[in-house]
Amino acid sequence: MNYQHATILSVLAHPDDETFGMGGTLALYAKNGANVHLICATRGEVGEMPPEMMMGHTSIAEIRENELRCAAGMLRLNGVHFLDYRDSGMEGSPENQHPDALAAQPVEAVAAKVVSYIRGLKPQVVLTFDPIGGYRHPDHIAIHNATVMAFKLAGDAKFVDPEKREPFQPERLYFHTMSKGFLKVVIFMLKVTGKDPSKFGKNQDIDLESIARVTFPVHAKINYSSVVDIRDRASACHASQGGKQMAGGIQGVLRKVFQSNETFMQAYPSEVPTRPIKDLFEGMDTVSR
Ligand SMILES: [Zn+2]
Repeated sequence: MNYQHATILSVLAHPDDETFGMGGTLALYAKNGANVHLICATRGEVGEMPPEMMMGHTSIAEIRENELRCAAGMLRLNGVHFLDYRDSGMEGSPENQHPDALAAQPVEAVAAKVVSYIRGLKPQVVLTFDPIGGYRHPDHIAIHNATVMAFKLAGDAKFVDPEKREPFQPERLYFHTMSKGFLKVVIFMLKVTGKDPSKFGKNQDIDLESIARVTFPVHAKINYSSVVDIRDRASACHASQGGKQMAGGIQGVLRKVFQSNETFMQAYPSEVPTRPIKDLFEGMDTVSR
């Protein structure tokens, strides 16, 4: 298939979301000639940062933006666009209340900005998080809601976006869904090693067991085995977020064995494939030929 006229817009929340969640898919389409753009709503200001990595830098945001630009280069993204909101942190953290926090913004305001990008870039395919934001991060849920709204508004001639662009309606909206098979393996491994999977993460605020119980239908399954190395190099760019360990060691092996596919739920159009398609553009005449 010729992807020369194919454009993907991925709308996510933090530097590293593009790589850790759907990096294989983005790398695969970029390698095959598609235009792949990323909207990153924040600079991950509240992310963990090993103190030694702060040396010579003024802020976490600066380091994480650099890491994202490194990863985007590896994945060969055509553009990275920041919405300049602030990372809201996990649910219940004081950062939720910051006036610039993504999760504290009215969804209409965030959606309006996303509409400008959709109208400007004219993607056939828009990607974002699933309705629970993968693992219930407030920013993931906020950008999911804004993207769903923006997808509908972009084609509405009555809606005026901040850049006053012409209406454009993308053809498909997909939600990235976490592989529950992989998650169950991780839960099993944690239990075997005496850890509590309901208190996962550095702050013990991620309940993997409850996440594993929420399932979304899989309408597209993208095999990215031909670009695993590219994805791993992009992962390594996110050194402050543990991306190096992720690409190597036991985690790297697990990821290689269980994760040569990234899975997506088709949110629009509502008529969905009866079995998972292997290409996000399958059956789309605006792209090939
Ligand atoms: Zn994130």
